Amino acid sequence: MSVVQQVVVLGSTGSIGVSTLDVIARHSDRFSAWALAANRSVTALAAQCRALRPRYAVMMDPDCAETLRTELSGDCDTEVLAGADGLNYVATHAEVDAVMAAIVGSAGLPSTLAAVQAGKRVLLANKESLVMAGHLLMSAARASGAVILPIDSEHNAIFQCLPQGDLAQPRLDGVSKILLTASGGPFRTWSASAIAAATPAQACAHPNWSMGRKISVDSATLMNKGLELIEACWLFDVAPARVDIVVHPESIVHSLVQYVDGSVLAQLGNPDMRTPIAYGLGWPQRIDAGVAALDLVALSKLHFEAPDEVRFPCLRIAREAAATGGTAMAVCNAANEVAVEAFLAERIAFSDIPHVITAALEAVAIVEPTSLDVVETADRDARAIAVEQVVRRRVAGGEK
Ligand code: NAD
Ligand code: MG
Repeated sequence: MSVVQQVVVLGSTGSIGVSTLDVIARHSDRFSAWALAANRSVTALAAQCRALRPRYAVMMDPDCAETLRTELSGDCDTEVLAGADGLNYVATHAEVDAVMAAIVGSAGLPSTLAAVQAGKRVLLANKESLVMAGHLLMSAARASGAVILPIDSEHNAIFQCLPQGDLAQPRLDGVSKILLTASGGPFRTWSASAIAAATPAQACAHPNWSMGRKISVDSATLMNKGLELIEACWLFDVAPARVDIVVHPESIVHSLVQYVDGSVLAQLGNPDMRTPIAYGLGWPQRIDAGVAALDLVALSKLHFEAPDEVRFPCLRIAREAAATGGTAMAVCNAANEVAVEAFLAERIAFSDIPHVITAALEAVAIVEPTSLDVVETADRDARAIAVEQVVRRRVAGGEK
C-alpha cells in the first residue's frame, strides 16, 4: 500500500460521492482521488476533474464520455474512459487501495463485485448490490481477502458497536439483537390517504438527511429500511429475525447492538454522511470528518417508536423477501427501482409502489443466486413485470 492511499470514487457526482471528496480533500496527505466515475453528469465530473486531477474519469454513458473528453482536452490530462469496462478497469486496478462504491441502484453491482473480487478495501454505500447479490459479494470477499466497510450510516454504526479483531470481520459473540434505527421519513406522521397522494417533491423532502432522489423515495416508503435489513443480514451474518427496526425521528442514534448481558451499545452523531465515510476511509484509525460535535444538551430529547407496516407496506414486503431468500431480494430490489423511477416521473402514484413490487415477487420464479448471471436474469425479469405493472396502473389511474 502506498503512503498516500489511492481512492476510486464510483458515483463521485452524487450525494455520497461529493461527501467522500470533501473528506478526501481534508486529508490530502493521506488520500488521493485516483479515479472518479459517474453516469451522465458531464459538467459536474469535469469540475471535479479540474479540481482533483485524477488519473482517470469514467462516464457510464459513451456519448457523455466523448463530451467530457472534448471538454477536458487542453487544460486537464485526466484520461476519460467509458462504460462498464471503464468502471471495472478503475475498480480493480493494481494501483488502487480503496473503492468507494456509491453508484445508485443495481447499476452499481458489477463494479462493486469486481472491486471485492480484486481484494480492494471497499467502502460500500451501494446497498442495492448487497441486497441483490449478498451471497456472491460476501463469499467473494472471503476468497479475495477484500475488506468491506459499511458506509450506510446504520451499518457503519453497527460495525462500530460490534467487537472487532484485526481484520474488518465483525464477531457476533454475545450479540442477541441488532437494532436498526429508521427516521420514519417525511411521511411518518401522515395519514394513509395523505401518503397515497404524496408528490415526488414531498417524498424527496427528507427531514434529516440530504440524499439522492432514489434513496429519498425509499426512505419515504420505508423500503430503504427493508433494504437495510437485508444489508445487515449479509454484512453481519444474522437471520432477519435477529434484526429489529426502531423508528427514531431525530436520526441521532444511528443504530444499536444489544448483547446477552443486557448491554446495548449505540453510535450517535449528527446526521452527516461524512462521519461514516471518514470512518471507512480512515479505518482502523479515526480521522476528522468536518462534522460538528454532537450537542446533547441542545438536543435534550430523543424519541423512539415502533414502525407502522400498515401505512408503510414496503418494509413488510422486504422482510418477507429476506425470509424467502434466493433471488427474491433481487426481484424486490429491481421492481422497487422501476416503481421509484415511475413515481419520480409522475407516472404512478406513491401508493402504487408496493403493488408494483408485490406483482413482480408473485410473478418471477425465485431460484438460488448461484452466479451474477442468475441474479441479473432475476433483475431483468422483475423489471419486465414491473414495467408492465406501471403501464397498467397508469392506464387504470388515467394519464398522470
Ligand atoms: P445520487 O443519486 O446522489 O448519486 C448517484 C451517483 O451514481 C451519481 O454520481 C451518478 O452519476 C452515478 N450513477 C447513477 N447511475 C449510474 C450508472 N448506471 N453507472 C454509473 N454511475 C451511475 O445517489 P446517492 O444518494 O449518493 O446514493 C448512492 C448510493 O449510496 C445508493 O446506493 C444509496 O442507497 C447509498 N446511500 C446513500 C446515502 C445518502 O445519504 N445519500 C446514505 C446511505 C446509503
Ligand atoms: Mg441508511
